[in-house]
Amino acid sequence: MADDLTFQTPEDLTRARDEVFGATLDRIFDCHPHYRALFAERGIRRADIAGVADLPRLPVTGKSDYVGNPAGFTLDLPASVDAEERIVWDVMYTTGSTGDPTPFTSTSYDFLNVLALNRNMLRLRGVTADDTILNLFPLTRHPHGAFARAMNAAAAYGIPVVAAMPGSPSPRHPDLGNRMDEVCALAGRSGATILWGVPSYIRKMLGRAEEMGVRLPSVRLVFVTGEGFGEEARRDLVERLKRLGAPDPRVSVSYGATEMQGGMVECVPGAGYHNPAPLQFAFEAVDPETHEPVADGEEGLILLTHLDRRGTTMLRYALGDTARLTRERCPHCGALTERLVSVPVRRDGFVKIKGMLVNPQALVDGLAAEAGIAAFQAYVDKEDAADALSMDRLVIRLSPRGVADDALVRRVADKVKATVGVSPVVELVAADDAALGGGNWKAKPIIDLRRRPD
Ligand SMILES: [Zn+2]
Repeated sequence: MADDLTFQTPEDLTRARDEVFGATLDRIFDCHPHYRALFAERGIRRADIAGVADLPRLPVTGKSDYVGNPAGFTLDLPASVDAEERIVWDVMYTTGSTGDPTPFTSTSYDFLNVLALNRNMLRLRGVTADDTILNLFPLTRHPHGAFARAMNAAAAYGIPVVAAMPGSPSPRHPDLGNRMDEVCALAGRSGATILWGVPSYIRKMLGRAEEMGVRLPSVRLVFVTGEGFGEEARRDLVERLKRLGAPDPRVSVSYGATEMQGGMVECVPGAGYHNPAPLQFAFEAVDPETHEPVADGEEGLILLTHLDRRGTTMLRYALGDTARLTRERCPHCGALTERLVSVPVRRDGFVKIKGMLVNPQALVDGLAAEAGIAAFQAYVDKEDAADALSMDRLVIRLSPRGVADDALVRRVADKVKATVGVSPVVELVAADDAALGGGNWKAKPIIDLRRRPD
């Protein structure tokens, strides 16, 4: 396969895309449970879709289509197809519509693509053969792309990675996972040149490292995801690292999605988020209401199409954000690929908390079965209310039915952690307390009190 960031003309790129997409479409029309049924119902035939240019003829796929029927989005390939395309390599999970996270399946064929796209991400971000990554993502209860793909990215690039494993993954293994001070010491020992993780956690870690006298002179890059991350936060991370001895640190922001098993990345700050693998993904921007394509550079609902997948496979999938998309060659790195040239804004009602995508409805469903709760209201705020860049905090305020005890608080905390992946602070309040949001929690279970950094 050609190095898919070096196409010289849009025509060359389209030709290469259509070749891989053709093979994927053949399989989708024959073996994709959801699309086969949908296309039969709509009278859409394989011959109607010659390539990427015909994508607008297909309906938009919503997150609810996928999370309501994840098995229906995995190709059901016959034994006559090469085993590589059918063997399940791994399953990662994304936020579901109810309590259950939604599986995203990659076959061996897909995993090699995941390695290639993660290699491209590192290349775009300016990683060299001399770099070492410190993976600051925690182990999560459900396999999640962040921790695993940071390890895979280093493998694909042939560079060292040290996993800091913050947090405690399981009470069965109290010695697995590291507390903050251990993470700071590990960071100092690792000689890492790249810190990769959730920005508010990295910021907290750098603050503690400074208190401990840990020096990080080798760090030259910080990889973060873009949710709520602005120029103020970027400057703050750079200043903190300089105080720890890093001479010229830079922050590289990405826009990630489980459905990519990677993210769209910047080549230089402000250059926009690049599609890192244009032979694997095509992006479009459409009007959020009519789903008509919008002109390049105009704000639209961002759609992802898998051009070359065999496990979970999606066409024109709405990622849930709007942004401005351009297909112009990047003036900085020269890559011919789609770029988002504005910070994506969530439009689907989901909330990002500590880097985890949370569905408010899942929280409601998760707590519905708890007989000890009369009413509740969840809030997202900051650990330090005066510091807009401090860590996110999920607070569950609940009024108990009858007499509450510590066991109820513990059960609710465990249930919320299991349902949405975030450990909450649980507070008991009186039933008539205004803290319960005036009883509107069924309509708006999570109230976001965070001030967005600029
Ligand atoms: Zn670029």
